[in-house]
Amino acid sequence: AGGKFSRKKPHFNIGTIGHVDHGKTTLTAAITKHLSEQGGGKFMDYSQIDKAPEEKARGITISTAAADHCIFSTSSTRLLLVIMPTSINMITGAAQLDGAIIVVSATDGQMPQTREHLLLAKQVGIKKLLVFINKVDQVDDPEMLELVEMEMRDLLSQYGYDGEQTPIIMGTALAALEGRDPERGSKKIQELMDAADTWLDVPARDLDKPFLMYVEDVFSISGRGTVVTGKVERGTITKGADVEILGLGAKIKTTLTGIEMFHKELDRGEAGDNMGALLRGIKREQVRRGQVLVAPGSIKSVKKFKAQIYVLTKDEGGRYTPFMSNYRPQLFIRTTDVTVALTFPPGTEGADEKLVMPGDNVEMVGELVHDIALEAGSRFTLREGGKTIGTGLISEVYE
Ligand code: GDP
Repeated sequence: AGGKFSRKKPHFNIGTIGHVDHGKTTLTAAITKHLSEQGGGKFMDYSQIDKAPEEKARGITISTAAADHCIFSTSSTRLLLVIMPTSINMITGAAQLDGAIIVVSATDGQMPQTREHLLLAKQVGIKKLLVFINKVDQVDDPEMLELVEMEMRDLLSQYGYDGEQTPIIMGTALAALEGRDPERGSKKIQELMDAADTWLDVPARDLDKPFLMYVEDVFSISGRGTVVTGKVERGTITKGADVEILGLGAKIKTTLTGIEMFHKELDRGEAGDNMGALLRGIKREQVRRGQVLVAPGSIKSVKKFKAQIYVLTKDEGGRYTPFMSNYRPQLFIRTTDVTVALTFPPGTEGADEKLVMPGDNVEMVGELVHDIALEAGSRFTLREGGKTIGTGLISEVYE
C-alpha cells in the first residue's frame, strides 16, 4: 500500500481542475480506485473525496490519519502522487500543486472555468498539464470529440502551454469508477497515469535558497507542543535550527525541535516536502494559517507593494465591468487571503478617473490590511464575490 515515506520517489502534488460538473471528483475517485487495484494506494470513494478535498489531500499526517488515503504510486513508480480534486481556493492558495489534470466534459467542451483554471495554473507556476476529456459515453459523434480536442489544444497554446504535445486522453471516469466499459474506462485511466509518469516533470526544488514554509494548519499535540504543517516552498531545514514565524502581525523567533512527514520522524525537511514542524515554546494561538515559517531575516513581512496585474475577462470568469483606483478585492497568496486596496503608482496621470478594463495588464500599488511575507517575484490572485478577477506578480515591496 501507499503512504510510505520515501525520498527516492519525488513527491508530486497533482490536482484535477476544470469546470464544475465536468467530472473532477469522479476522475479523482476513479484514479484512486485504479491505482489501489494495482497496490499503489488506498481507494477513496466519491463521497470521501467530495466531502473535504482540502482536508483529505493535504498529505500531512502529523495529527490526522487522512494522508495515507491520497498517496499513490503510479505503476512506473517514478512519482509519488498526492491527488485531489482542486477547488478554486486551492489553486489560488497555490500552496500545493505541482501538476494538474484539466478535466473537460465532451458534452460541453471548454467553459469559463476551464479557461480560468488554465490561467491560474499558469499563474501559480504549473509547467505542464494533462487533459482528460470526460463523459465520452454521452457523445456519439467522433467529430464532436475531435473538435473538443482541437479546441483544447488551441486553448492550451493560448495560455502558454504546449498545445501540440500535451497528452489528451478521452474516456469516461464514471465507467472506470463503476468498473464498466474497460475500453473507455479503466484503460483510459491507465493511459492517463502513464502520461503522468512520462509527461510531467518533477519541478526543480529550490534547495539552495533560504528555508520558507507556508503555514497551512496548526495543531497542539499533548505532551509535545505546537506543530505547524505546510509545504516547504524552498530551502532545507534540520532539527534544532532557528526559525522565524512571520506575517499577520507576528515576527517570532523560535527553534524547530522536530520534523515529521507521513508519520515518520525525520532530521531534515526540504523544498517540496509536506511536513509538520514542532516548535519550541510556542503556544497554539501564536501561529496561524497564512503566516510563514522562515530562516530568520530571509524575507520581510510588508503591507505595501507594487505589482503587474492582469485583469481577467468575463470569458475567463472575471469581471464584466472596469474598476477604478482604490478598488478593494481580496488578495490570495499561498495559504492566506487579505483585503488589498489597489491604486495607480504615484504620478499616474488622471489617476482619479482612470479605468482598469477586463483584459488589461496594469501596474498598480497594493496596500494590504495585514502584513504578509512578500518579495519581488511573488505571485498572487485577486478575487471578489467568489470570482477570480485578476492575477499579479510583485515587482517591488515597500517597508
Ligand atoms: P466535478 O464538479 O467536476 O467534481 O464533477 P463530478 O465528478 O461531481 O461529476 C459531475 C456529474 O457528472 C456527476 O453526476 C457524475 O456522476 C457525472 N459524470 C462524471 N463522469 C462521467 C462520465 O464519464 N460519464 C457520465 N455519463 N457522467 C459522468
